[in-house]
Amino acid sequence: MTRRFTRSFTQQEPIPADAIDAAVAVLQSGRLHRYNLATGETGEVASLEAEYRDWQGSAYCLALTSGGQALQIALRACGVAPGEAVLTNAFTLAPVPGAIQAVGAQSVLVEIDENLRLDLYDLERKITQSGARTMLLSHMRGHLCDMERLMSICDTAGVAVIEDCAHTMGASWNGKRSGNFGKVACFSTQTYKHLNSGEGGFLTTDDPDLAARATILSGSYMLYERHGAGPAREAFDGPRYEMPNCSARMDALRAAILRPQLATLDANIERWNKRYHAAERALKPHNRIATIAVPAEEVHVGSSIQFRLPDFTAEQCRAVIAAAAGRGVELKWFGASEPVGFTSSHHSWRYVKQQELPETDRIMATLFDMRLPLSFSEADCTLIGELIGEAVSEVGQ
Ligand SMILES: *Cc1c(COP(=O)(O)O)cnc(C)c1O
Repeated sequence: MTRRFTRSFTQQEPIPADAIDAAVAVLQSGRLHRYNLATGETGEVASLEAEYRDWQGSAYCLALTSGGQALQIALRACGVAPGEAVLTNAFTLAPVPGAIQAVGAQSVLVEIDENLRLDLYDLERKITQSGARTMLLSHMRGHLCDMERLMSICDTAGVAVIEDCAHTMGASWNGKRSGNFGKVACFSTQTYKHLNSGEGGFLTTDDPDLAARATILSGSYMLYERHGAGPAREAFDGPRYEMPNCSARMDALRAAILRPQLATLDANIERWNKRYHAAERALKPHNRIATIAVPAEEVHVGSSIQFRLPDFTAEQCRAVIAAAAGRGVELKWFGASEPVGFTSSHHSWRYVKQQELPETDRIMATLFDMRLPLSFSEADCTLIGELIGEAVSEVGQ
């Protein structure tokens, strides 16, 4: 009899009791808008901004409605103009090229390598070919490229780096937190990321002018002095008249449920990594499965896991999905010709000019992915890894 896994891959842990209490208090107050404050009150959003700034180790933090809005605001605050080229990863999720498109700019896609990191040789080529001044670097699925080399390439070429840290909240490279390398970083607190407020996001930076522009862009009217981790008043002198209001403020309810979660984020990162290592240990010995190498410089946050089946055909990959599904394991496959449930293939971003990316296409053709929610135990993750191994053996024998 085949063994089966019976739990849901999309079930997160419940919101902690102290976060629920904080949410109820906000609801009872009726003051849900971030600027609707009683006399002397700091407010949940400003408090969260200060706490996230301190946790991240940045100078400034702005709380927003989503990670995708943080990306758009970061691009606008960096002065990206319509028609301009913006470099980004060929393998990422749709909100990334979507943000570039939303500001009227053109995505220039950069190849990835077999460990899902940006190919820095292709980056150098594309910088020269495109003349781009901005890169939206997506740390897709938590895999950081050699950040020192990347920054040296971009600094030398005068390319500003915006980090998309939707999958690397809490990760680091050589002891430096992901998000603290580039000019500005964007985070998501959407349900499937490392903090859960349904929707939400952060923008962090050390640049006071950029922080002021982003704050005005977020729709702060003239109330920016009520922020918890914003720059000094003088920084707003120019931006307050120049930046359009894009209405992307976070509200007090979301901030209230995020603050208690931030307090347990470090502990949760350890819990994710235990689950990741359990799944990886089960997958690694299989001779048809290639797991993704994590460099010694990287502190990874294993909230999802990827692997490749390098010598499998598309037909075999489809059969693996079915064989895994028959065992209760929901796998995502990046080689499908039609996007199902997510869009990570550049072929399905038809708003982006089509580009030749043979390496990325080759790698994605046999690439699989699954989330590891904290609602799974380590034993669950071991079992999932073993069941995938069985499914692969059944198809590939
Ligand atoms: C989720 C995600 C985003 C955007 O986050 P939202 O809060 O959903 O808008 C950006 N980049 C990547 C890689 C993501 O997975």
